Amino acid sequence: MVDLHTHSTASDGTFTPKELIILAKKEGLQALALTDHDTTQGLKEAYLTAKEVDLPFLCGVEISVKFEGPGHFHLLGYFLKPDIPEIQSTLEVLQKARDTRNQKMIEKLQQAGIEITLEELEEIAQGEIGRPHIANLLVKKGVVKTFEEAFQKYLKKGALAYVPKALLSPEEAINQIKQAKGVPVLAHPFTLKLSYADLYKYLSLLKDIGLMGVEAYYTEHNQDFTRFLLETAQKLDLIVTGGSDFHGANKPDIKLGKGLNNLSVPLSCYKNLKNLLEKIN
Ligand code: AMP
Ligand code: ZN
Ligand code: FE
Ligand code: FE
Repeated sequence: MVDLHTHSTASDGTFTPKELIILAKKEGLQALALTDHDTTQGLKEAYLTAKEVDLPFLCGVEISVKFEGPGHFHLLGYFLKPDIPEIQSTLEVLQKARDTRNQKMIEKLQQAGIEITLEELEEIAQGEIGRPHIANLLVKKGVVKTFEEAFQKYLKKGALAYVPKALLSPEEAINQIKQAKGVPVLAHPFTLKLSYADLYKYLSLLKDIGLMGVEAYYTEHNQDFTRFLLETAQKLDLIVTGGSDFHGANKPDIKLGKGLNNLSVPLSCYKNLKNLLEKIN
């Protein structure tokens, strides 16, 4: 069993990169990848710790991509090494956009009569600030009872304080990752909210513009959907990956490697991804 989709304190997870690797080892995982939102900041620490404890490890990043439609598009990029100079300027642009967006979300909350400041937010976050940090702060301040309520009332797409953040088109994001000799993979395809037929067509189009893989194993994919993705990947010659999207205490029901206890990502996913990376590097 492996886990190729996880978050650390470099973005909105609550385990440091080092703690994450140690947990993976303790849980008996055969391989891990770290895929923080819009940052590679945590990769070096994870990479070095993985070496120390002898855990097969891949470097990754997760980027939000522009998508017209009800759902949302996240692109994973996988790499062999933690230093990825080719994508740093793009990530910096995304991080600046995130700062502006956080400021706007804070303003919207303030306009709704909630006393909240960016400084308070910066105090509780160690890396890239995202909506989970705002949700935690709203709970801490007693504005809402739960993290989930914060998303429902204020932070989810279309809610009162929501501000979109995607800047890159799918083509731009895929090209960025390929230029850095990485493997671009569509994360959790269910969040696109497309029908099977439309998703097939869309994946085929993405393949034409350079997509190399699809995250078929994901805790919120039911068996039928996973099977559909496995078949589609085979037809379109895409590799298959999978992961839990572990965020530590920010998604307390999601366990590393196991997701909501229904997840089991085979070692072959790691091996195929690693082989592909070695081939293109
Ligand atoms: P951001 O990068 O700021 O857009 O935040 C994205 C993160 O927010 C996701 O990776 C999840 O961790 C979390 N998230 C998004 N929607 C929800 C939701 N409805 N409930 C709980 N967490 C969510
Ligand atoms: Zn997240
Ligand atoms: Fe995601
Ligand atoms: Fe994620």
